[in-house]
Amino acid sequence: MDFVLEEAGDIVFRLNMLGQILFANRRSAGLFGRGKELDGQPILSLISDLDQAAMKSTMAESVLAKGAVRVEVRLKSPERDIWYELRISVYPNAARAYEVLVVGRDMTDQHATEERLRHMATHDALTELPNRLLLSDRIRMTIAQARRSGQGFAVATIGLDSFKKVNDGLGHPIGDAVLRMAAQRLRKTLRDSDTLARVGGDEFVAVLPGTYNEAQIKLVTGRLLATLQSPFEVDQHTIYVGASVGVSVYPQHAEDEVRLVAMADAAMSRAKETGKARCIVYSPRHGGPPEHDISLEAAMFQAVREGEFLLYYQPIVNARTREIEGFETLMRWKHPSLGMVPPARFVPIAETNGLINLLGAWALKSACVQLKQFEEVAKRPLYISVNISPRQFRNDKFLDVLDDAISFSGLPGEKLVLEITEGTLMIDPVHAETILSKMADRKARIAIDDFGTGYSSLAYLKRFPISVLKIDRTFIRDLPASEKDAAICNAVLDLAKHLDLSVVAEGVETEEQYAHIEQRGCQYIQGYLTGKPMAAHTALAALKERTYASLMPGEHTQVVQ
Ligand code: C2E
Ligand code: CA
Ligand code: CA
Repeated sequence: MDFVLEEAGDIVFRLNMLGQILFANRRSAGLFGRGKELDGQPILSLISDLDQAAMKSTMAESVLAKGAVRVEVRLKSPERDIWYELRISVYPNAARAYEVLVVGRDMTDQHATEERLRHMATHDALTELPNRLLLSDRIRMTIAQARRSGQGFAVATIGLDSFKKVNDGLGHPIGDAVLRMAAQRLRKTLRDSDTLARVGGDEFVAVLPGTYNEAQIKLVTGRLLATLQSPFEVDQHTIYVGASVGVSVYPQHAEDEVRLVAMADAAMSRAKETGKARCIVYSPRHGGPPEHDISLEAAMFQAVREGEFLLYYQPIVNARTREIEGFETLMRWKHPSLGMVPPARFVPIAETNGLINLLGAWALKSACVQLKQFEEVAKRPLYISVNISPRQFRNDKFLDVLDDAISFSGLPGEKLVLEITEGTLMIDPVHAETILSKMADRKARIAIDDFGTGYSSLAYLKRFPISVLKIDRTFIRDLPASEKDAAICNAVLDLAKHLDLSVVAEGVETEEQYAHIEQRGCQYIQGYLTGKPMAAHTALAALKERTYASLMPGEHTQVVQ
């Protein structure tokens, strides 16, 4: 047997029941660079100190279970720790004594990929600063600390004053350079314990623990303003930008993260309105965080009664053949005087007042029925993808709604893809696991929407029965020029391959983006290039002709039959 193990591509050890090495194959000996010395050593001596406990308990488990168990650990190799997945099994040898077999697979690349993705999900690609997601984490942490210490802190929103002019006048590359330099300057004026995040095109937010009284705030914001006052030198241009700053203070102005930022924003707007290049501390006179539009909300209830909501369908095409394989259902509100109200405006309101449950149930059922008709016309199998909001997902009637849609339409569950975001899963992972497994019982597939923009843990991809990742539009937009975005897309495709998931690239608008992502193995494309969201009758026409050329300018979109 040792002869066979010797040739294995993985690392292999045989151990006695005390965990001492009886045999190590060539590959593992090479890895540790110590030749035959491995014999007789405890296996634990090869495991990183950080993973000793995990290794010990897994070994004990395998001995007790007399079966195979797995553990991911770091091995102490001479140069650096490397990640391995070890399969540990106990078996009787020829002499009927028990031995332990350890087979290890190199996971270092996968860990590096996950690490990269985690970083990308929480940082802004241009400046490497934390993004809004990490900012919100940091503010919550700072609130918790402030509660314990009884000491307040300030949140400062910093908006560049004339950035738009730079971008429009001198072009994006120079604009980007200015943003990077501004980020560096701001970072330098702050302490290590302060957080600086980039939250929008030309907007930064600083969280300043321990800074709460007027004098301190004046000092810090004075430095922030000053550092952006001095000109930026880029490519022989001397660029003056300047900034306005708004400040809110915990706990005087607000005690939660969302309102703190909104109040600092309100103060910053005030600073811009009153002459720019200044700092204003929030005061109730500046108006609070925008309460959502009350009149729009009232109109929504009316709209439900009047049937003003409708569904659009956006083709999802096979990247290789450009043939339509399915559609994503997108909700629209046709308001009698406002015209088409986009979901970005009304879905958040419906989410807060619960109307989304009603609208979502209607969308799901209608989409299932609609797909039957699409298939009849297309004369081939298609699938339908429907967005499920966090509140819908949490609603205890959700599975009934799903069953109703499936039984009413007669659509087999496997033709249904339910799109949820990472955030939806993370609100209550235990509950999510139950619901997802029940969805899987109904054969419905799960897609992670806006992948890469949400939660920073990837462990859930293994834990939950997920079939599809939808790469968010923001990572596609600047392809192929943006190396960072290209790296993100590669990492996602890589990860999906490892975990056997399909990938849909969202927001593909150009042939260049299409070619780039298709060449790297992305199976599905959804975007304006291959079809905008369209009314059902237009989608039917597209299916009939098996071409999207009539829907879009240019001949390049002709379907290959
Ligand atoms: P989403 O789920 O990420 O949907 C994709 C959005 O990207 C759609 O915006 C679509 O029109 C847009 N899009 C697709 N291809 C392109 C492209 O090539 N370029 C650009 N710039 N945009 C593209 P839409 O329809 O405005 O929907 C916005 C969001 O509203 C959706 O984002 C989704 O989160 C939500 N939503 C829409 N319909 C529903 C629904 O029925 N239920 C729920 N819960 N949410 C919905
Ligand atoms: Ca979606
Ligand atoms: Ca999306």
